[in-house]
Amino acid sequence: MSFDLSALLRPHIRNLKPYTSARDEYSGTEGVFLDANENPYGSITDEDFNRYPDPYQQGLKDRIAKIRDLDSSRIFLGNGSDEAIDLLFRAFCNPGVDNVILLPPTYGMYGVSASINATETISVPLTEDFQLQSEKILEAFNEKSKILFICSPNNPSGNSLNHDEIEKLIKEFPGIVVIDEAYVDFMSEESFVKKLDEFQNLVVLQTFSKAWGLASLRLGMAFASEEVIRVLNKIKPPYNISGLTQTTVLDALGNIDQMKKMVANILEQRNHLRSELESIDGVIKVFPSDANFLLVKIANASKAYQDLIERKVILRNRSNVMLCEDCLRVTIGTAQENEIFLSELKNWLSKNS
Ligand SMILES: *Cc1c(COP(=O)(O)O)cnc(C)c1O
Repeated sequence: MSFDLSALLRPHIRNLKPYTSARDEYSGTEGVFLDANENPYGSITDEDFNRYPDPYQQGLKDRIAKIRDLDSSRIFLGNGSDEAIDLLFRAFCNPGVDNVILLPPTYGMYGVSASINATETISVPLTEDFQLQSEKILEAFNEKSKILFICSPNNPSGNSLNHDEIEKLIKEFPGIVVIDEAYVDFMSEESFVKKLDEFQNLVVLQTFSKAWGLASLRLGMAFASEEVIRVLNKIKPPYNISGLTQTTVLDALGNIDQMKKMVANILEQRNHLRSELESIDGVIKVFPSDANFLLVKIANASKAYQDLIERKVILRNRSNVMLCEDCLRVTIGTAQENEIFLSELKNWLSKNS
């Protein structure tokens, strides 16, 4: 499918003149800085935060570019990947006119962002075992369909979606295809970042919130063609990533070994939790997972969810979500947390089945 980004963009975004910040006009580090109305004396904190941060986070992007083996011009950084999701709507979806394709059960923010941006959603459910219905997806879109959201590994089911089917969709869908790889570090399959050269309409989302243990800092990544990245940069708030986040994450990227150790622990715990759960009477099914959580089916899940909260064990109740009837989503915790969860669940099931 040939791809014309300019035709896909909302006309006023195509023609938008972006805000130019003080730090856009002069980006050197030496000088007498009287351009940005900052406090010249410093901050009221131990560390100084008085200067505006780099609006394009170049140092951080250079480091990420090395790690992900692509050019830094193909990286957008957002205040969480949720910011990138919202910006994609704002760039491509004319409110009340355009639509996006969602594949439920999937990550809730796509639908919420669609609502905020007054954009209709067309839902094509996954199969019973949470795989793509490619033919149905290709039948469902129309000339107003701007974005197709594919979450792989999928939240809340946990499994990776079939790589070849995803690739077929990227080839045939005439708009932007977003592959949300928030859980990429927990999966064994290859990331779609490797396919960016091949597909101009591909946007891959990743985040520092899960494997890296930096959810509170709010940093998400979008990888795409240089053209798409330029659009996102044009419409983002000028200083969307705080200086503290930029320096902290730059430091953290020197600690990849530690991240890998934590991921290895989580994967080991995932195996353990799965085999323990499968041995419990009353657990109907534990779904396959390439992520840091398991989707678990039990009878009367909503009641279990409520009762476990009373016991201070907090899970995510997905019972009311399409294809997830009576399912709870449990994040892989520490060994100790998982033991507490298992013992509370066993206890509940023995009293309630
Ligand atoms: C957790 C999660 C995100 C991460 O969002 P951030 O805003 O980066 O914290 C994105 N997509 C999916 C599917 C997720 O589960």
